[in-house]
Amino acid sequence: MADVTGSSTREGGCLCGAVRFCVTGPLRKVVYCHCEQCRRTSGHFVAATGADRNAIEMTEDAGLRWFVSSESAKRGFCAQCGSSLFWQRNDSDHTSIMAGAIDDKNALTADRHIYVADKASYYPVDDSLPCFEQSD
Ligand SMILES: [Zn+2]
Ligand SMILES: [Zn+2]
Repeated sequence: MADVTGSSTREGGCLCGAVRFCVTGPLRKVVYCHCEQCRRTSGHFVAATGADRNAIEMTEDAGLRWFVSSESAKRGFCAQCGSSLFWQRNDSDHTSIMAGAIDDKNALTADRHIYVADKASYYPVDDSLPCFEQSD
């Protein structure tokens, strides 16, 4: 990971507490994804940080379920409160973590927009961050 934001241990979790985790080491800068899957799963678009899969330790996983969202990836969510939490490619050691799940809401900085070509028309993307039509 070239683009990291600080380095320490940070905690996160879902809305109800049935999923809790801590991440040791760097968190990726936040990527905004405007693809159709992220639109449907989030209700809008996804803002996700990420970390090495092995750096994420589940401290409470009673609510954690995985939805196989495509042939290449799955999405982790809380079955009790519905919070969207993770996105995991089958062939990757990197796990995307929904930015809102990190307890310290000031720990992250944003980096870029992806899949802007697929975004809905009701909102603009007009900040100064780099935009990519699809993946980067
Ligand atoms: Zn929950
Ligand atoms: Zn997406």
